[in-house]
Amino acid sequence: MLDNLTQRLARVMKTLKGEARLTESNIADALREVRLALLEADVALPVVKDFIAAVKEQAVGEEVLGSLTPGQALVGVVHREMTKVMGEANVGLNLATQPPAVILMAGLQGAGKTTTVGKLAKFLKDTQKKKVLVVSCDVYRPAAIEQLKTVAGQAGAEFFPSTTADKPVDIARAAVDWAKRHYHDVLLIDTAGRLAIDEAMMQEIAELHAAIKPIETLFVVDAMLGQDAVNTAKAFNDALPLTGVILTKLDGDARGGAALSVRHVTGKPLKFAGVGEKLSGLEPFHPERMASRILG
Ligand code: GDP
Repeated sequence: MLDNLTQRLARVMKTLKGEARLTESNIADALREVRLALLEADVALPVVKDFIAAVKEQAVGEEVLGSLTPGQALVGVVHREMTKVMGEANVGLNLATQPPAVILMAGLQGAGKTTTVGKLAKFLKDTQKKKVLVVSCDVYRPAAIEQLKTVAGQAGAEFFPSTTADKPVDIARAAVDWAKRHYHDVLLIDTAGRLAIDEAMMQEIAELHAAIKPIETLFVVDAMLGQDAVNTAKAFNDALPLTGVILTKLDGDARGGAALSVRHVTGKPLKFAGVGEKLSGLEPFHPERMASRILG
């Protein structure tokens, strides 16, 4: 079992008892512990560096209030800075538009996009009584279209059929038209997964975005990617004007460092967390809970 950050800092900072201020030299060891804790939680190295620099800037010169040890004072700064990066509170979906509110899903293959479309459809239906239509623009894998159809059935959402002979932009336009004519509140668009960052595929989803102009463009990313999440996030954020992130597979062993990395490089709010394979395995993302999970 790893000690939590408070215990780790208490250990390295006990020699500092009685010091009235945090200084560059008296927090050096402690910052090394923070750095290690973040790396153990799978936060990407460049993100760790930026984060530590920000903590240092905030901490140096900070007064250690009477009842606190310097270690506790530094933990306070770390938590404050983490909350600042992760966002103060959950940010929900923006559906405030003339219906249908179109939501485009983007991410690598296997990230959990199709499952998450089902989860979101169920969430919107159960909690907000929305009438939801889903469509797959994955014209490369017939199995992906079939998978979405199954998931839609489980979620109680309507499925707009598509085939691998169609063009993604045409499919999406037809689905938007159908949703308008049948008074759907929300249209969820699933897209082809990219196994790795692929220029042509990125171009395709950028064109899809330009044609459809969704109100939400959500980047779905697997928390188990760990440090690699940062490069994927950068590529999608450069290709598309993302409005939010959904971090999946947080029910696994991932410590959640990907959350900090993705937030840091995209600046976009994490809106939901995937916490299981079932359609009920979706939770609104809570930054402060994730901060505690990352800090241990
Ligand atoms: P896609 O290729 O991005 O559409 O990914 P899928 O939706 O097909 O999901 C890939 C795999 O990840 C499937 O086996 C899903 O059951 C699984 N999966 C998706 N989200 C979660 C999650 O939050 N937790 C767990 N444990 N598995 C998930």
